[in-house]
Amino acid sequence: MFWLCRTCGVEHATASNVCAICADDRQWVPAEEQQWATLERGPVIAIAASHPHMYGAQVEWSHRLGGVPVYANAADAEWVMRPDPVIEQWTDTLQLTPSLSVVRVGGHFPGSAVACWADGAGGRGVLLAGDTVFPNPDRRTVGFLRSYPNHLPLSGAVVQRMANTLAALHFDRIYGLFTNSIDANGHAAVRQSAARHAAWVRGDYDHLT
Ligand SMILES: [Zn+2]
Ligand SMILES: [Zn+2]
Repeated sequence: MFWLCRTCGVEHATASNVCAICADDRQWVPAEEQQWATLERGPVIAIAASHPHMYGAQVEWSHRLGGVPVYANAADAEWVMRPDPVIEQWTDTLQLTPSLSVVRVGGHFPGSAVACWADGAGGRGVLLAGDTVFPNPDRRTVGFLRSYPNHLPLSGAVVQRMANTLAALHFDRIYGLFTNSIDANGHAAVRQSAARHAAWVRGDYDHLT
């Protein structure tokens, strides 16, 4: 067991009150004070990317972690560029543990998925959204796009279908792909954002443009 300073990332044999490297006048201790992390984690039971842009080195990771299954949604099977026996296809829902499921929502890719951790956020539930839905900078709404970098839209019908799928899941907090998140009332954020998106692409607000 060893410790990593969360600010500088240097490994330490013991977790003391303050990291000597950060307390030195060439570094800094953050306002939230000294924080430590460890690399101690539970076993890796599976690798499940939200969509093909996140496949990364999934087969390589699996091989180096003892051959854990790599789940790829069947709707995106054509995008698996390194086939391997560790890859298993799934369709609509993947129950990884009693409180952790992966659910196909579609949109960005036909197999685009979210992970739903029902016990997260103190039991309120956490949605790991990838970029299937995108928590916005306002921290109250989410976006839905076919391409975020190239700003390609989705239709109102697709966005409403995605929101209906998400409405059945247990979550209150949403984490996006980066540091973007919505702390609470995630269900309302998804529902209201989908309705707003549909109204805009339907032309309800064309008089404002
Ligand atoms: Zn440090
Ligand atoms: Zn993507």
